Amino acid sequence: MGYDIERFLGQVNEGLLCCICRDVLEDPLQAPCEHAFCSTCIHGWLVHENICPEDRRTLLITQLRPLFRYMKNDLDKLEIKCGNSDNGCSMITTLENIDRHEHECGFGNVSCPSIGCSVVLERRNLNSHLGTCEFRTKVCPRGCGLTLLTKEDEEHNCIGELRTELELLRSEMICKLDDQNKEMQLRLDSQRSHMVQKSSHMQQQIDELRGQISRLQQDVRSLTNAERKRRQEMERMELEKQELIELLKGFQREADANKKGACRNCKRNEKITAI
Ligand SMILES: [Zn+2]
Ligand SMILES: [Zn+2]
Ligand SMILES: [Zn+2]
Ligand SMILES: [Zn+2]
Ligand SMILES: [Zn+2]
Repeated sequence: MGYDIERFLGQVNEGLLCCICRDVLEDPLQAPCEHAFCSTCIHGWLVHENICPEDRRTLLITQLRPLFRYMKNDLDKLEIKCGNSDNGCSMITTLENIDRHEHECGFGNVSCPSIGCSVVLERRNLNSHLGTCEFRTKVCPRGCGLTLLTKEDEEHNCIGELRTELELLRSEMICKLDDQNKEMQLRLDSQRSHMVQKSSHMQQQIDELRGQISRLQQDVRSLTNAERKRRQEMERMELEKQELIELLKGFQREADANKKGACRNCKRNEKITAI
């Protein structure tokens, strides 16, 4: 929105009026067609349109440029009354200086800066209000470091206040410690249950291995038994073998002896046949 034309002294050139609000240009921007607008007016317009509102030629936000320098100079030189003239300010200054003046104009309205105070008053009356404002604060003059409302000054008791503050801090600390404790407890619990799971899993594995070992031990035992039986069998067979060998040897000797007898006979018979 532009500046109300009523506030200006003397004639204002038509070219320095906004094509949208028809007031005197504020933060002016210019289209390629040379129509000029307040920055807020044209940005608001281009949200829904893409044409110049004056001649309906295509217009994009990126085509907007600052006002021609000579027009800007004319604009800046216009004389304008302070916006607080209704309150009694008689200041008349150029448009380029009006913002600075209004920012510090004694007839402008300001809110009391004290927290909790809702008084709105003219800037020139602020200091006298602050002298009596019941929400004005100050640091305790007796050195406890607390900020006091001025009206509390009389009944303020440093030691009592500090004690309350201390109690507050202590209970905060206790709460915090409690929270930390709970968190640690939760963490420990979850680790514990994890460990329990792990150990029961390991116990299962141990039990399985035990079962395997005892099965293996049984196998070993039965193998050992079989081996012992086999060895006994072998020994028994060895004995039988020895006995058989002895028997054979006996037969051999007997056979040999019989053969010698027969040969003697043979020789004798041979001689007889030879003769
Ligand atoms: Zn405008
Ligand atoms: Zn235009
Ligand atoms: Zn003023
Ligand atoms: Zn106040
Ligand atoms: Zn104090």
